[in-house]
Amino acid sequence: MKGKLEEIISYARFANDISKYRVLYRDFDDLVECSLQEFLEQDDPPIPRHRIHLIRVKEGNRVRPVFVKHGHCPNCGQKLLDQGKTCYGCGFIIIP
Ligand SMILES: [Zn+2]
Repeated sequence: MKGKLEEIISYARFANDISKYRVLYRDFDDLVECSLQEFLEQDDPPIPRHRIHLIRVKEGNRVRPVFVKHGHCPNCGQKLLDQGKTCYGCGFIIIP
């Protein structure tokens, strides 16, 4: 059985327009943003999928998170401290 993340990636590649998708992933202590296409094309070595914190899709003028790693901010992908309601990375208020 495929996980939720794999389903989202498959959907983006085969059923939607992959160019609308952006990924934020952890690279050592940094969060790096790139397109999903670029992320998947990195193969020397490939970036492990578990490093993905956030996947966003652009729908018209709106950007919507379609994957958020557990305990991370749906706006910027930073780890939330103490499962807090406010992200210290971007100030986004998380509505439980
Ligand atoms: Zn944030």
